[in-house]
Amino acid sequence: MIRDRDIAASRVANVWNVHDGKVSHYTQPVATTATERKILIGGEWIETGDWLEVLSPYDGSLVGRVAKAGTAEARRAVDAAERAMAEPIPAHDRAAILDRTAHLVDERSEEIARTISAEAGKPMKAARIEAARAQSTFTMAAVEARKLAGDVVPMDASPAGAGKVALTLRLPVGVVGAISPFNFPFNLVAHKVAPALAAGCAVVLKPASQTPLSALLLAELEQEAGLPDGWLNVVVGPASEIGDVLVEDERVALITFTGSSGVGWKLRERAPRKRVNLELGNATPVIVAADADLDDVAARLAMHAFSFAGQSCISVQRIYVERSVYDAFLERFVPRVDALVVGDPANDATDVGPLISEADRDRVLEWIEEAKAKGGRIVAGGELDGDLLRPTVVADAPPDAKVSCEEVFGPLCTVVPYDSLDEAIGLANGTRYGLQAGIFTSDVKAALRAAHELEFGGVTVNEAPTFRADQMPYGGVKDSGNTREGPAYAVREMTEERLVVLQL
Ligand code: NAP
Repeated sequence: MIRDRDIAASRVANVWNVHDGKVSHYTQPVATTATERKILIGGEWIETGDWLEVLSPYDGSLVGRVAKAGTAEARRAVDAAERAMAEPIPAHDRAAILDRTAHLVDERSEEIARTISAEAGKPMKAARIEAARAQSTFTMAAVEARKLAGDVVPMDASPAGAGKVALTLRLPVGVVGAISPFNFPFNLVAHKVAPALAAGCAVVLKPASQTPLSALLLAELEQEAGLPDGWLNVVVGPASEIGDVLVEDERVALITFTGSSGVGWKLRERAPRKRVNLELGNATPVIVAADADLDDVAARLAMHAFSFAGQSCISVQRIYVERSVYDAFLERFVPRVDALVVGDPANDATDVGPLISEADRDRVLEWIEEAKAKGGRIVAGGELDGDLLRPTVVADAPPDAKVSCEEVFGPLCTVVPYDSLDEAIGLANGTRYGLQAGIFTSDVKAALRAAHELEFGGVTVNEAPTFRADQMPYGGVKDSGNTREGPAYAVREMTEERLVVLQL
């Protein structure tokens, strides 16, 4: 089993020079130790001779380095997964492994949270929640492994079926290729690996290059939980090379992808004969009616628009407020946003940390300028606090500004007044995305109308649309995706239904 190894500060420059032939922008020796990890193929932890650096999005320090894989390692990983599936694991053993993983996630939750926080720049408050959610994901997947079953078909319901009995079996679809994003580097990996194992599928996982350490830690826990060799293979490296293998190798039956819409839909186009399940972006809207409890709404939205600096696919981005309470809402909302603590993600008090890269921070700053130029009013933030972007609220955001129609994926939300529920629903539906949306109202009829007419995979009522419990069916329509995650739903996607007909 792999063990983390401390890299002495003096070795860090050496590592860069020897393996990457480049001098990092980071000139001081790192104050803390960094983690070194190999990749996992067929149960073996492997070095490749090349390394990928993981740098802190907060201060650029070296968080760790990971053996860098390419086409050859990705192919070996598919070989290993295919070999593993030749010896199926019975459902009760799969469930027991998933239960043990859940237990280990709980036991090592602080280490998991620290790893997430260090490599993704996620504040510890949010990183601890992610670790706890991953435990829930594995627990739910263990339940699904135990109850995975087909149906009995009512054969005598038609004259053709008389005298026959039929049933369906649920069989693993084959090797699963999983591609995960940086923003939930542990729990979104769990959402792919846990249901795949519950379904009896071996996995080749390609985590985001910015955040591979959490995925490799999860793989270590799987091994410790007793997962036999080859059932989980983790390859870290260039997306195009590893992605090409997952697309082109016919033994990979299903690709489960979470990430940006552009990359996701392209993958699906390139693999027309595979199942390609996409969990993509959103520009999350929420409607606040005049009869809502404005204090409660302001508190919930201030938290859910800025947690992890808005880098959640369902971070609240567009707030539509009934005109009669527009000013009253802003009076309650803006002070709460201003009070959020911006700073080092490692500090327990921090609410809002860095964006994943300087380039993303600068992109959001440009979008703020564009919104201002088009008539938006910056009523909170809009500027840097040191290197970090302060939580930003754009009031009266024009509908054609990028902040109103594209996914910001940063610590920013817009607030816009509306006059009728029709208008609010139209505005909320007015982007290419459709993952989750929300409405705050005490009028049941309005809530039900919104639930029917908002074109999204999920609608929350009197809760921010950022809410997710891991057993929920979660996924989008339109450009936001084509599938549902949550172990019960993902397990169905990762199995084939086979019909068995018996003549009596
Ligand atoms: P991304 O840039 O699309 O990357 C996601 C993953 O795809 C990474 O592992 C990336 O690898 C890989 N990738 C990139 N190009 C690829 C290619 N040509 N072939 C195969 N794989 C490729 O997204 P991100 O910036 O990490 O994540 C943010 C996005 O994810 C946002 O749009 C967000 O809304 C969405 N998201 C959606 C959900 C959901 O459940 N619906 C949840 C979380 C996030 P590298 O890292 O090596 O480039």
